[in-house]
Amino acid sequence: MGVKILTIKEDILGANAENAKGNRELVDKHHILMINITSSPGAGKTSLIMQTISRLKEKARMAVIEGDIASSIDADKVSREGVPAIQINTAGACHLDANMIKKALGNLDLDRIDLIVIENVGNLICPAEFALGAHKQILILSVPEGDDKPYKYPLMFTQADVILINKTDVLPHFDFDMSAFSKAVGGLNPAAAVYPISAKTGEGLEQWFSWLWDALKHKGA
Ligand code: MG
Ligand code: ZN
Repeated sequence: MGVKILTIKEDILGANAENAKGNRELVDKHHILMINITSSPGAGKTSLIMQTISRLKEKARMAVIEGDIASSIDADKVSREGVPAIQINTAGACHLDANMIKKALGNLDLDRIDLIVIENVGNLICPAEFALGAHKQILILSVPEGDDKPYKYPLMFTQADVILINKTDVLPHFDFDMSAFSKAVGGLNPAAAVYPISAKTGEGLEQWFSWLWDALKHKGA
């Protein structure tokens, strides 16, 4: 039985990898940069997206794909800013998969988009196993979660292109050791860009905006 379960999991991941490849080809064909934002629940994915919209929506044509177990609260917020938003309700599943993204892409006007931001389901575990076809992986860790998370969720931290340490405005109230964190990340993924930010106050966001703008330019947007 154990072997059979393993086989099923491999089949699922194999089919997912095929769909992820198709998604990447589709967005590449339309010269779109697609990024996948992951974090624990409440770490600040939606806040970061709202800040990014207000900063970049006049410069780049954005769309957002929102993954949630239920509700459309986050997609409604995005939509109110005049940015196309697709809500995916996973009906309990704790991650997005490439087939869900394929369906979402089919509902967007890809000829009129430069940047697609995917907000994954809040979870640091299995979203790391399901490729979506995104070009860049963005990971948000918030200060209250603690500086030891790279040791607990190594796959997620290994895959990230950018790691945002959010909620620096509450640093004085938590024992978050920035140098211990940098050391942990440096051991797993020395190439990752690490930016401390506060999506609430705006502190540090310039580094994120300029990283994203640079990635967009290289995509030819
Ligand atoms: Mg959210
Ligand atoms: Zn999951």
